[in-house]
Amino acid sequence: MFYKNLLKKIIFVLVISFISLKIFSVPIEFESHLFKNFITAMKIAYPKNFVTYGFDTGEQLWFIDLKNDDVKKSEDKIKRFFYKNERILPKENLMDWKKYNPISIEYYPEEIPNPDDFTDFKVLFLKDMSSSENRDDYKPSSLTLVQNFLYQAYTQKQIEPQIITIEFLDWKVRVHKKIKEPLLNIDKKIRELALKNSEVDKFLKLPTVITGYNWREVRDNENRSSHSWGISIDIVPKKYGSKQIYWKWTQDFYDDGWITYPIKKRWMPPEEVISIFESEGFIWGGKWDIWDNMHFEYHPEILQLSTPN
Ligand SMILES: [Zn+2]
Repeated sequence: MFYKNLLKKIIFVLVISFISLKIFSVPIEFESHLFKNFITAMKIAYPKNFVTYGFDTGEQLWFIDLKNDDVKKSEDKIKRFFYKNERILPKENLMDWKKYNPISIEYYPEEIPNPDDFTDFKVLFLKDMSSSENRDDYKPSSLTLVQNFLYQAYTQKQIEPQIITIEFLDWKVRVHKKIKEPLLNIDKKIRELALKNSEVDKFLKLPTVITGYNWREVRDNENRSSHSWGISIDIVPKKYGSKQIYWKWTQDFYDDGWITYPIKKRWMPPEEVISIFESEGFIWGGKWDIWDNMHFEYHPEILQLSTPN
């Protein structure tokens, strides 16, 4: 009797294990922290667009489904993006995944990278990447494919009706309608802080030129400036003394010296202003190795991806 019961128990456990293995056995790729972090980041960054994620048995790849209510055809409102070799790709781009940069390079640091800490290898790498011969074949991020869907920005003709003009820091700026709200929040936060912080007040009164949407394609590849999605703005002060503001303009005068150009000699908005932008989902170009201190870009998912968890 005892053995019979034990045998029954063993069989029961075996059957249950087999069934659960069948159901829950997950492909190794699910172990990828990057994909898991990406899913979490997308859920937080774009709650209105996130639908679901899972494993597509047809493609044998993990996927994320995103929704955009601006899409007219109801059957196209939801689009599936696959995770392949650290890229996020719709079905039509799965074959040419190598044309895009992996999302692992999207890391956004907490501090401005200090050129004093750059290794010789890094300096060489940046020199090579920024040379005029190589610059044009720089691969776009696979996130641009997600952007195309989220902002319905596959062509210039398609995106232009979605570009609106807003008042931002006393300028009329053309941006995508989807970043109006965060930008107006930033405007409000900066004005509030300026009342008690003289440096921010000085920044607010500084004569500047602020620009946003600008459709720009780089020759025959798909590379586009992020201004083409209307999700970036440039804040350029009319005067910034002897300081430098943008790596490319610095390169014109100092050649490769721009790579290690001291942080203190670069113009930048007050730290509090940068933090305000970040709090509303914008990354600042001053924290890139290829620095662009006038540039802010709406990328709440990159901020999430880079937050240590
Ligand atoms: Zn810019």
